[in-house]
Amino acid sequence: MSVVPVIEADVLRRQDPELAEILLGELARQSTTLQLVAAENFSSPAVLAALGSPLANKYAEGYPGARHHGGCEIVDVAERVAVERAKALFGAEHANVQAHSGSSAVLAAYAALLRPGDTVLALGLPYGGHLTHGSPANFSGRWFDFVGYGVDAETGIVDHAQVRSLARLHRPKAIVCGSIAYPRHIDYALFREVADEVGAYLIADAAHPIGLVAGGAAPNPVPYADIVCATTHKVLRGPRGGMLLCGSELAERVDRAVFPFTQGGAQMHTIAAKAVAFGEAATPAFTAYAHQVVANARVLAAGLAGEGFVVTTGGTDTHLITVDPLPLGVDGRAARGQLAAAGLVLDCCPLPHGDSRGLRLGTAAVTTQGMGEGEMATIAALLAGVLRGRVDTRRARDEVRDLVGGFPPYPG
Ligand SMILES: *Cc1c(COP(=O)(O)O)cnc(C)c1O
Repeated sequence: MSVVPVIEADVLRRQDPELAEILLGELARQSTTLQLVAAENFSSPAVLAALGSPLANKYAEGYPGARHHGGCEIVDVAERVAVERAKALFGAEHANVQAHSGSSAVLAAYAALLRPGDTVLALGLPYGGHLTHGSPANFSGRWFDFVGYGVDAETGIVDHAQVRSLARLHRPKAIVCGSIAYPRHIDYALFREVADEVGAYLIADAAHPIGLVAGGAAPNPVPYADIVCATTHKVLRGPRGGMLLCGSELAERVDRAVFPFTQGGAQMHTIAAKAVAFGEAATPAFTAYAHQVVANARVLAAGLAGEGFVVTTGGTDTHLITVDPLPLGVDGRAARGQLAAAGLVLDCCPLPHGDSRGLRLGTAAVTTQGMGEGEMATIAALLAGVLRGRVDTRRARDEVRDLVGGFPPYPG
């Protein structure tokens, strides 16, 4: 099976060379530069095949067995398989696999549990909270009253004492735990305890670590949170999309919050691709992958520390690392541009002290490519070499190309 069946079949190339060129150009970019964006991964050819399938044509509003459209008997099976696989993978009583994205999943979780104007306690945006955790530019900040907790400015660890005191002070209706840039495991038991103390719901936004959870390499929020929101495309390596996990008592509220409250027809090709990804994630190979992702991140973090970067929290438990490059003479924003020019693709992120921007890196994609600890040391040296001006951009680009050339994400 080819990676991009339409291109190999030459259909798109013949009909629309302009778009075929763009698709192939992106495939070339992904295969010749180093993908260190922590939220990205390489989906398998099987996942991409499901995404590119005729299930994309099917309208299916509602849920299996109760659709508003005819002809859903086959896609109903796809959704049931996806739901059963998700439940088994994460030990959840209920799964909703229709959320179009991680943000849609969070929106649905709020819709299931909250009313406009309710108070919500979440990690503040300057410390790595997601836009859906109360940004004024997002529905969350406009419709709810968000209170932000922080991380310790020195250690970068979530300030659990502050979580407790803000919860007691503000009596939120819900507490959100989860971040776009937190490299450590989240203490779900502690958040549950605080939520119980003040009578709040606990929502775990596990968009980043859910793939590690699937592979047994990170703690599972399902036993602790009332609702777990997640993406399916980050470490989990499925199609772009979201999902929600909860207990049976919230199942109906969650389902109605997704459809009809916040979404229309389910995207059946994506749901089929989610089922494929859940199937892959249940294999021993994925368990090994998840553990290798973390082992690689630890080596990369240590390598970066050795090169003079300040590594937030001193290391990582996950796929994700954040660093301050300032000791190398450049802030995160400038560093990202210099590194991109050299083919090293990553993001900026907030830092605990909040004075400047840092860099966020992840090992999910490079590990899927087959890279191991040895390559992580090479990458740390390359990153530092570029920022310190030891390696010029052109030579770095060649070195990156040589490195990734040995680990094609889609061989053949
Ligand atoms: C990625 C992410 C999201 C949003 O996912 P999208 O699919 O981009 O909408 C939400 N919350 C957290 C914590 C994330 O990391």
